[in-house]
Amino acid sequence: MSSTYFDHNATTALDSRVLESMLPFMTAQHGNPTSRHSFGRHARSAIERAREQVADAVNAHPSQVIFTSGGTEANNLAVTGIAGRYGASQIVVSDIEHPCISRPAQALQQRGWKLAVLPVDRHGVVQESGVEELLRTETSLLSVMLANNETGVLQKVAGIAAIARKHGVTVHTDAVQALGKMRVDFAELNVHAMTLSSHKINGPQGAGALILDKRIDIEPVIHGGGQEKGLRSGTENVAAIVGFGAACELLNARLLQEPGRIRQMREHLETGLKKLGAVIFGAEVERLPNTSFFAFNEIEGETLVMALDRKGFAVASGSACSSDSSEPSAVLLAMGVEADLAKGAIRTSLGAGNSAEQIDSFLAVLAGEIARLRHLTAVAV
Ligand code: PLP
Repeated sequence: MSSTYFDHNATTALDSRVLESMLPFMTAQHGNPTSRHSFGRHARSAIERAREQVADAVNAHPSQVIFTSGGTEANNLAVTGIAGRYGASQIVVSDIEHPCISRPAQALQQRGWKLAVLPVDRHGVVQESGVEELLRTETSLLSVMLANNETGVLQKVAGIAAIARKHGVTVHTDAVQALGKMRVDFAELNVHAMTLSSHKINGPQGAGALILDKRIDIEPVIHGGGQEKGLRSGTENVAAIVGFGAACELLNARLLQEPGRIRQMREHLETGLKKLGAVIFGAEVERLPNTSFFAFNEIEGETLVMALDRKGFAVASGSACSSDSSEPSAVLLAMGVEADLAKGAIRTSLGAGNSAEQIDSFLAVLAGEIARLRHLTAVAV
């Protein structure tokens, strides 16, 4: 049985044109970009071309692009590298950040930095009014994500950045989930640093970038041969970087066509979900067009995810990175959702390959599985 994939926030399939662009660098063009000979020079110029493609996709300058192994590394570099440069100071992060922001922030806290957490309201939105009161003269860094990976809820990053800038605070945003699903403009967002990841936009896994205002002083996390202006040592993953560049180049065309179609499919899905009695999180505020995070009372998210998988539908419970734990979603708890309901949460994230017919089949299967699971619970009680 072939499965229907509704988990595009976890990762996406490699676009065949992207694969095509990568193949030469995994075969004949295998040079190390630091080598002086023709193989090395060819690899170097491929990386510089990718740097331009990534910069173009987000209205940045190529010199602002630091390639990393992905979003996790870029976020770690932003938090540890920026706050680390300032020495023990205060870091402010929102309560719904991905663990690759919150964990490095907590690690710094254990080493003497102060950590303040920006709360979100019941829709999952950081209130701009709460920002000012958390900032201190010793605040070095504020990090607020652009779009949440679980709910898809968008944050008013530019407004928050304007407040932080008045206080001389460096601002970072994690735009990993936003890229490819909405317009992402580094200059308009008004931030100093921004994280991107390749595999969320039909590029290969294992490539990402930190877009960095050149005036920001930042300490490397990985030391060694001095690649990426000394900020990310290690031989570059040339094929993956080339693929990331190619995926970025395909974005503009995609952004013109897809979000409207995907939003329509999501509306169709959510109409059906509401009829089945689902609670949809973040539905009243601005969200990514492809994401639905929802729960049914008295049904375990994990159980439902496995049941749906057996029926041929790939969906997620909470974020993929924490899907092997049965803790309720930290994002939902931060939004004030009851732990019991939060434990029931599952996420669908639609993408280019999905169709309205798949949504119809999904809703039919979901209705059957909910009835079956409710019946099992009733019998057990
Ligand atoms: N930030 C967000 C919001 C994410 O959703 C993810 C991955 O799910 C990451 C960062 C990590 O990116 P990567 O998988 O490239 O390390």
